Amino acid sequence: MNAKPRGRQFFNNPGPTNIPDRVLRAMDRPVIDFMSDEFVAIQHACHAGVKRVLKTDQTLYFYNSSGHGAWEAALANLFSAGDKVLIVETGYFSQSWEEMAVNLGIIVETFAADWRKGADITRLAERIAADKAHEIKAVLTVHNETATGMVLPVAEIRRALDQARHPALLLSDTISSLGSIDYRMDAWGVDVTVGGSQKGLMLPTGMALTGVSNKALDTARKNKAPRHYWNWELMNGRAPQKFMGTAPVHMFFGLQESLKMLEEEGLDGVFQRHTRLAEATRAAVRQWGSDGKGPQLYCQATDRLSNSVTAVVMPEGTSSDPLRKVAIDRYNLSLGGGLGPLMGKVFRIGHMGDLNEPMLLGCLATTELAMKTAGVPFVKGGVDAAIESLAG
Ligand code: PLP
Repeated sequence: MNAKPRGRQFFNNPGPTNIPDRVLRAMDRPVIDFMSDEFVAIQHACHAGVKRVLKTDQTLYFYNSSGHGAWEAALANLFSAGDKVLIVETGYFSQSWEEMAVNLGIIVETFAADWRKGADITRLAERIAADKAHEIKAVLTVHNETATGMVLPVAEIRRALDQARHPALLLSDTISSLGSIDYRMDAWGVDVTVGGSQKGLMLPTGMALTGVSNKALDTARKNKAPRHYWNWELMNGRAPQKFMGTAPVHMFFGLQESLKMLEEEGLDGVFQRHTRLAEATRAAVRQWGSDGKGPQLYCQATDRLSNSVTAVVMPEGTSSDPLRKVAIDRYNLSLGGGLGPLMGKVFRIGHMGDLNEPMLLGCLATTELAMKTAGVPFVKGGVDAAIESLAG
């Protein structure tokens, strides 16, 4: 018989992430009428709170869906078949969003980039400036590529659009950065922000959101493409909820609590904690691979390293799958796997959401233990390097 490992599971997937006990307790209550004044007040408070996290004064919509739904809401409201968009390649998630756009009949130009080095913003600015006929209706970006552990400088892309006086909309997926890494929708001139519940907002999977600028709302109003569930205009007509269908009241109970937690710590405090934990993780990985043969950081752009997830390249001739299996089956540590072409080649350490120093050190120590058990070569001392980083 296969006994399950005892003790609490250490959950270091880059989404879904740990759900704090406080959020679970807040959700552990009887249902209420989603048309009641009590619920409308909760929902309004959540709208205001999430807008503070997005740093926007514009419009916010929630959906009963995973992040894919918010991706589709953005595309379905803004574009018709035959419209052209430019998507900045970052990794598996930019490719997946691109695939969705293609399936909706949108013409997609990919701004190609090396997944380890990141997109060249100077060349991207040149491409935008060269589009004199303004055929590109929008630039689609993934702020934090969860598959590679790399951040994209979205504000620089806004600058490139402004310098070229290009009217394209700017869309940004913040699914793995929202509430973990600084993001400023209005200051960066982002027209649509895509987010999900299950990462920095520390909730179960199942609710997604879009922040929408007035300019994007105007584009959507003029767009004749058929759509229903995601239709922002229809949602506006459903005030005061602005929700299509039955609102997931328990998600809002949880969200109210997670927003409270984020505000108690302060967003800057939240971002600093994510930076500290990310730097400690990277210190450990650098030590493991310090002989040039052990595991290495996947992201090679040192100024774009993600503070919410670290992708780690496996040493030559080893696969991340048996390592992850040992980690979960023997030691109850859940690590993320490689996605798409990175399957087996990398593993990912999620360090976002409800996480502190002991939880991270437990994860890093257990990753070392799992590497030893699975016969993955590495240089000892990763945990010491992480401690030095945290103590410094
Ligand atoms: N975009 C990014 C950056 C993601 O990390 C994910 C999921 O991990 C998605 C989009 C898709 O979101 P979901 O799995 O909630 O549909």
